[in-house]
Amino acid sequence: MSSEHFPIPFNRPSLAGRELEHLQKAVAAGHISGDGEYARKCAGFLSKRCGAGAVMLTPSCTAALEMTALLLDLRPGDEVVMPSFTFVSTANAYALRGAVPVFADIRPDTLNLDETRLEEAFTSRTRAVVVVHYGGVGCEMDAICRAAALRGLAVVEDNAHGLGGFYRGRPLGSLATMAALSFHETKNLSCGEGGALLLHDSSLVEQAEIIRDKGTNRRKFLSGAVDKYTWVGLGSSYVMSDLLAAYLWGQLECMDQIMQRRKVLWNRYAEGLKSWAEKSGVQLPVVPAHCASAHHLFYLLLPTPQARGRFLDHMRSHGCLAVFHYQPLHLSPMARNRSGFRPLPVTERVSSCLARLPFFTGMTDAEQARVMEAVEAFRP
Ligand SMILES: *Cc1c(COP(=O)(O)O)cnc(C)c1O
Repeated sequence: MSSEHFPIPFNRPSLAGRELEHLQKAVAAGHISGDGEYARKCAGFLSKRCGAGAVMLTPSCTAALEMTALLLDLRPGDEVVMPSFTFVSTANAYALRGAVPVFADIRPDTLNLDETRLEEAFTSRTRAVVVVHYGGVGCEMDAICRAAALRGLAVVEDNAHGLGGFYRGRPLGSLATMAALSFHETKNLSCGEGGALLLHDSSLVEQAEIIRDKGTNRRKFLSGAVDKYTWVGLGSSYVMSDLLAAYLWGQLECMDQIMQRRKVLWNRYAEGLKSWAEKSGVQLPVVPAHCASAHHLFYLLLPTPQARGRFLDHMRSHGCLAVFHYQPLHLSPMARNRSGFRPLPVTERVSSCLARLPFFTGMTDAEQARVMEAVEAFRP
């Protein structure tokens, strides 16, 4: 069987450059726990790219989101407004503190939190707003931050998709008090499992250091500020191993090439599928003029859920794995127990009509051509 008959996967991780060399160096240096040389390199790089005062590498984006929930000192019954069209971790991190996720609808164009729906989601118990830059396209942060500031609410960016993207010339991940990044295998830059917390308010740094170090003031001890370290607050084990940071550094060194390749692939899908999409009543991703996308994923919005189902089958039969995306959180069993239920029509439609095409940095031109040929052979 020729390789042509193997299905094109939805995602395939690939080495960008010197990841394995850095891993060996970390081992040879004898520092494989957290906060080693590679963690410092990665944090310095991310701090520059995201204009962040402080960067802490974490074992995942989920862990970084949990840190934001601890930093916000949320209490049971506090409410956090967020999209329903997102990954479970966005809600779970706050629910773990006893807070109630309150789900707001998304815009039909960018599929980001709809800033005009925030007011109706706010109550006297609202403490924070969490935004997700879906696919790497910025939310309407000016309006969202203004609405939050009027009520004294914190804003957190779940920037799992957005590293490398911009909103009005400012990096995604730099637009609120705190942001979380993901380096999961499926994300633009990866070390298998990993993440980072970005802090833009220096008054949060000391508390964040306590939280990540199991609730201890170990950081102060290491810097000589205290002569022993002890339990001083709530915390957990939120530090990334330097083995993973070494791998991540190999990716970050190549960030510009990775982003450039994703841009080429993304634009080719967008331009190549344009006339097919128009004829077929399919909506392609929308990137507003004031946003530069991080090109995290490429999706199609089919006209109906039935067409989406047929499309996924069609792609599979042509050897390409296209997949659906988020199941709306407001319809999940957990949310129905905790958050009550309000219909979110745009979220429900988008979730049932959206299909993601195979899209990954290591995708070859030939693979992409095969995917596009298969897409164009589909009639909704
Ligand atoms: C992937 C993802 C996460 C979770 O990332 P992990 O690093 O796997 O914890 C959180 N939020 C969004 C929007 C994601 O896409």
